[in-house]
Amino acid sequence: MRAFVALELPEAFADEVAGLSRALGEICAGRFVAAENHHLTLAFLGEAGEAETRSAMAALDETCAGTGPVQLRATGLGTFGRARDATLWLGIEKDPELMDLAARVRGELSARGLAYDEKDFLPHVTLARRARVPRGALGDLAFPLPDEATRVTLFRSILEPDGARYKPLYTVAL
Ligand code: ATP
Ligand code: MG
Repeated sequence: MRAFVALELPEAFADEVAGLSRALGEICAGRFVAAENHHLTLAFLGEAGEAETRSAMAALDETCAGTGPVQLRATGLGTFGRARDATLWLGIEKDPELMDLAARVRGELSARGLAYDEKDFLPHVTLARRARVPRGALGDLAFPLPDEATRVTLFRSILEPDGARYKPLYTVAL
């Protein structure tokens, strides 16, 4: 199965991200991520078997035991790719605790021989794909207020023609 580890967004933050996404939907064409699918990826495992997902669960237990909530502070919008066909995301501040959590999740995966995408961790919440972002100011957008994330979840991703569906497999509380 296709798997990844992500922070779930706390309720108030998630509501405000959904509001921001709606506002952006008025400005940009694109395939917007459904609000219930918003998340912050910590490690993308890709294809993983039964034994590997079990190991990933153990890695989450090990990482998150004794770890407290981490701060989520929105820093602004960013894009990957071309302006006319971009992945549009909300950047999240590289808070030391967040960076440390991602590094420790990745370290525990490596310690168990699990492979993941090793691109540098850039904390973000993807809002839209294939987005056409207009040039210039985007107007008055309301960004989420800082909040604390308390749930780290191993998700299964099921790719479907109209976008991926995510199924939580295992959650650890911070
Ligand atoms: P789709 O690929 O159909 O657009 P998706 O990107 O939401 O949907 P996945 O590709 O399964 O679904 O990705 C799940 C999560 O992992 C997303 O947050 C995605 O940004 C992230 N991700 C996917 N591929 C990689 C990768 N190679 N490296 C890092 N993160 C990735
Ligand atoms: Mg993808």
